[in-house]
Amino acid sequence: MGALTADLKGHAAIVTGSTSGIGAAVAEALAANGANVLLNGLGDAGEIEKLRARIEADHGVKALYHPADMRKPDEIADMVATAHDAFGRLDILVNNAGIQHVAAVEDFPAEKWDAILTINLTAVFHAIKHAVPVMKAQKRGRIINIASAHGLVASPYKSAYVAAKHGVLGLTKTVALETAEHGITCNAVCPGYVRTPLVDAQIDDTAKARGITRDEVVRDVMLSAQPTKKFVEYDELNGIILYLASDAGASANGAAFPIEGGWTAA
Ligand code: NAD
Repeated sequence: MGALTADLKGHAAIVTGSTSGIGAAVAEALAANGANVLLNGLGDAGEIEKLRARIEADHGVKALYHPADMRKPDEIADMVATAHDAFGRLDILVNNAGIQHVAAVEDFPAEKWDAILTINLTAVFHAIKHAVPVMKAQKRGRIINIASAHGLVASPYKSAYVAAKHGVLGLTKTVALETAEHGITCNAVCPGYVRTPLVDAQIDDTAKARGITRDEVVRDVMLSAQPTKKFVEYDELNGIILYLASDAGASANGAAFPIEGGWTAA
């Protein structure tokens, strides 16, 4: 499949949760189109450094890593300041870091609820809060929140995730209205199932919660929701993200873009 392109030469981007899955693919796509990128996320220090160095070498951009824990507002503030100091600007903020837990609401551990709301929703607020003054001063900015089809519709056993992702869409619309006259846009992308480590991990949990096998989870739970019966590919998400990040995306604002094979059309 041919990947879309955008002219992002000299732009500066932060992608939270970019040590794995969708975030790593988005960071790579932004770098491939000329943006300097700040990587963030958990993981093995050696593997992260390999990813950072490879992105720099392959795409001829600056790539930094910042270890901010999305549960810690001070670290998020430091991450934004670090990108601004290092790159001299901040054009693109992709709020992508996220976690999941699958359980019936009456069995849902309260600490999992708190962690999901903190990482998937409150961290998005903190990153935006610190990025907006920089973007306002530049009179340009692109905030892209990786929500989910679960920001638009629910599935059973995902109470915290669905609540957080619906919250992300509310935050997206509010920020879009507040910043619209400053050359800033704020949008959400709502992917369906992408075969990332996060999804692999929930196959077992969903099998347990529903009392079915792993194969049945993939066929009857995940892909049954997607009319295409296919996982969403990284390049299919990168296309909308590059559009939103580019000059061509200037009038897309406060919107939620479903990239889920038709899931929420039903
Ligand atoms: P993943 O598990 O592969 O990656 C998640 C990233 O978030 C990792 O880099 C991880 O280190 C980081 N992260 C987790 N906790 C963190 C913390 N406390 N501080 C900093 N970083 C932290 O997951 P993914 O599937 O690539 O998901 C990325 C985003 O896309 C999430 O917001 C997820 O909800 C969303 N999403 C995923 C799918 C899918 O099918 N994979 C579908 C819809 C939405």
